[in-house]
Amino acid sequence: MSAIPYRQYVQLEPASQAQPLVTVIIPFLNEADVLAVCHQRVCEALNKLKQHCEILYIDDGSQDDSWALVSQFKHHLHQVRCLRLSRNFGKEAAMSAGMKEASGRCVILLDADLQDPPEYIPEMIKAWQAGAQVVEMQRHERHGESWLKRTTAHYFYRFMSHISDHPITENVGDFRLMDQKVVKVINTLPERTRFMKGLLAWPGFTRTILSFDRDARLAGDTKWNYPKLIHLALEGITSFSTKPLRWATMAGLTTSVIAFIMAIVIFTKTLVWGDPVVGYPSTILIVLFLGGIQLLSIGVLGEYVGRLFIESKQRPLYVLMEDAMTKPTFQYTES
Ligand code: UDP
Ligand code: MG
Repeated sequence: MSAIPYRQYVQLEPASQAQPLVTVIIPFLNEADVLAVCHQRVCEALNKLKQHCEILYIDDGSQDDSWALVSQFKHHLHQVRCLRLSRNFGKEAAMSAGMKEASGRCVILLDADLQDPPEYIPEMIKAWQAGAQVVEMQRHERHGESWLKRTTAHYFYRFMSHISDHPITENVGDFRLMDQKVVKVINTLPERTRFMKGLLAWPGFTRTILSFDRDARLAGDTKWNYPKLIHLALEGITSFSTKPLRWATMAGLTTSVIAFIMAIVIFTKTLVWGDPVVGYPSTILIVLFLGGIQLLSIGVLGEYVGRLFIESKQRPLYVLMEDAMTKPTFQYTES
């Protein structure tokens, strides 16, 4: 008779610990209100897999009790690891830290606020076991998000798919599963300006799309506001496409052609018909129009030069301050 009769696991020998089936990466910033529920729901979902897994929390510079909370989390069957960044580096950097440290055979990215329901994890694993190296979770319904956010997000992703050389699936956020092979490729991408949706799509590999209903935030507020989102959008566009530079060139070319045609018309009118000099409003309009196009083109150029400047500094993406790991004490049997 076993000491733990109704369970399918046995005391773990330290040397026999296998590679986790999956690493669930959870980046968070000031989420003390939701982390306990999040941990519980993730553990429940992982228990259904009946295999040893890893949960990797990344504290992206929280100022509340989040770190004190997560560093106490442990589970008798799953490895719980908590990394603490030295300050707020942004969700993109936190996810990159997670992907560098993930030891599972596949990796799932999950928001701590439970907008991405952990209950989908077994389904995602099933799709991976069926052969997909990337399982993208497409949002079907988005609860708790304003009409403006849904609409702007929709058009931004359509626009990005249009200008990007690598297709980005619409309505797919960071919630996804990736094989460790894919994660290794993403870890080799060195850029500092990390537009994750683009980076995650870049490696390709075989994909499956599952649809899900995105829940409202469990508690607390979103960490994004419109200035931050505009910054993210500009970063996404300039780090994933050089098409705006091409458009600036085309705009310059088009206005030059128009100016040339107008010059011929005006000269002809003046020389042949002896037109008196008229048209103050049209002159001002043209000057303003050309000034606008020039400033816009310089701005576009500046965005790219700015990216080059940031990349050339080669600074690390994030700085780790603390690393806490609790190993499981039991292991599932083969039954
Ligand atoms: N987050 C983070 N660093 C940040 C901003 C957000 O780690 O600088 C985390 C946040 O705690 C949450 C996830 O990223 O777990 C998604 O953030 P949020 O819910 O604010 O974004 P939304 O779902 O509104 O797009
Ligand atoms: Mg959220």
